[in-house]
Amino acid sequence: MAAGNPVVLVVGAGPVGLALAYGLGLAGVDVTLLDREPQVSRQLRASTFHPPTLDMLDAWGITAELLSRGRVTPAWQIRLHETGEHVTFDLSVLADETAHPYRLQCEQAVLSEALERRLLDLPRVRLLRGVSVAAVGQEADRAWVELDAGLGRLHADYVVGCDGAHSIVRKAIGASFDGSTYPDTTLLATTPFAFDSMWPDLAGVNYVWQDSGTYSLLHLPGVWRVSLHPVSDAPLEVEAEPGRIRQRLAMLFPGHGPFDLLEIRPYRVHKRLASRWRDGRLLIAGDAAHLNNPKGGMGMNGGIHDARCLCEHLVRALSGARSDVLEGYERQRLPVVRDDIIAQADRNHARMQLRGLDERREALGRLRALADDRDRCRAYLRQTSMLEGLDKARALAGAPAVA
Ligand SMILES: Cc1cc2nc3c(=O)[nH]c(=O)nc-3n(C[C@H](O)[C@H](O)[C@H](O)COP(=O)(O)OP(=O)(O)OC[C@H]3O[C@@H](n4cnc5c(N)ncnc54)[C@H](O)[C@@H]3O)c2cc1C
Repeated sequence: MAAGNPVVLVVGAGPVGLALAYGLGLAGVDVTLLDREPQVSRQLRASTFHPPTLDMLDAWGITAELLSRGRVTPAWQIRLHETGEHVTFDLSVLADETAHPYRLQCEQAVLSEALERRLLDLPRVRLLRGVSVAAVGQEADRAWVELDAGLGRLHADYVVGCDGAHSIVRKAIGASFDGSTYPDTTLLATTPFAFDSMWPDLAGVNYVWQDSGTYSLLHLPGVWRVSLHPVSDAPLEVEAEPGRIRQRLAMLFPGHGPFDLLEIRPYRVHKRLASRWRDGRLLIAGDAAHLNNPKGGMGMNGGIHDARCLCEHLVRALSGARSDVLEGYERQRLPVVRDDIIAQADRNHARMQLRGLDERREALGRLRALADDRDRCRAYLRQTSMLEGLDKARALAGAPAVA
C-alpha cells in the first residue's frame, strides 16, 4: 500500500460494498475497497429499487441518475394468465412518507457504476480491482486480509465482508449460513418484445399466475425481463437454450412474438441467514450475511440498508463511542432481514405456487379486498416496500436511525 493502513477495509465491490465505502468515504473515513473483478459486473441481477432505498440514495445525489436510466413503476400487479383478471397495487398510497412512492426498474450495474465513479473522487477512498482475498483474520488491535498471488497482507482497524454468497469473511467470523435452496430453478431472459402491446393493462412489474408454473414480467427501458420456471425435468442448461425459451414463450403467448432474446440467465434461489454478523473487528453485510428469494426484489435493497446502518455504526465507533456500539448493527439488521425480507420473499414465492384456477381466483379475490381497503393496502405496501422493516430497525436500535 502506498499510504498507511486504511481504517476500514471492505472486501467486495458489489452494490453493497460500494455503498458502504462511499458512505464511509463521505464521512471522512479512510477506506480501501477490494474486488477480484476488474470492473463492475454486468450480469443480470437486481432491477427493482424500493422507495426507501431511493430515498437513501437521493441523500447521496444518486437517485436522479438512476431515474434517468431506469423506468418508474407506479404500481405492480398480480394476474391470472388465462383470464387476465388482476389486482393492481398502487404505491401512491405511500406518498406522504417517501419522496419516491414507486418502484424503479433499473439494472443493478447502473447503481454500482454510479457509486464507483463518485467514490473515486473521494480523497480517502482507494479502490483496488483485480485483487482477490485469500484469507481474513484479526489480532487484538487490528484486522487483516491476505491477498492472493503472493500480494501480501493488508491491515485495517476493521474488515467488512461485502463479498457475496460465498463470503470468505463470513467464514472467518465463524458464522453458519443456515437455510435452504428452493427446489425450483429460475430462467431469467430479456426480450424487446412489448408485452404491453399484447396486454395493454399490464403494469411495469407483473407476477403472473398460471397452472403450470408462474412467471413474472418486468418492464425496464426498452426491454422486458421474463422470469420463468422450467416445467420439465430436463437439465437446466437444456431449459436455458434460447430455442427452448422462445418455444416456451410462444406456447404461453400463442399468436404473439417474435421473442428475440437478448440475455439469458438460469439461476438457483436460496434462503439463508448468517448466524452472526460480527466477530470483533470483522463484520459482514449484504449477500454475505443473507440470501432471499428474488420475488419482491429485496436482496440488494436490504444490503444497501445494511450498508447505511453499518456505516453509521462504524463512524460512531471510530469517533470514540462506547466500544459496544457495533453490536447495534446486528441487533438492528438481523431480525429485520430474517422476519421482513427472507420471510416476506418466502411468502411471495409460496403464494405463486397455487395451481388450480379456482384456488388462484379465490386468492386473487382476497388480494383484491386488500387492495380496495386503503388502510390494509397501505400496511401491506409499507411491508413489501421495505418501509416497515426500516421502522422496526429504528425501534430495535437504542441507536441511530438508518434512514
Ligand atoms: C436474477 C436475480 C435478480 C435479482 N433481483 C433483485 C431485485 O430486483 N432487487 C433486489 O434488491 N435484489 C435482487 N437480487 C439480489 C441482488 O442481486 C443481490 O442481493 C446483490 O447483488 C448483493 O450485493 P452484494 O454487494 O452483497 O454482493 P455481490 O453483488 O455478490 O458482490 C460481491 C462482490 O464481492 C467480490 N468478491 C467475492 N469474494 C471476493 C474475494 N475473496 N476477494 C475479492 N473480491 C471478492 C465479487 O467479485 C463481487 O463483486 C437479484 C438477484 C438475482 C440473482
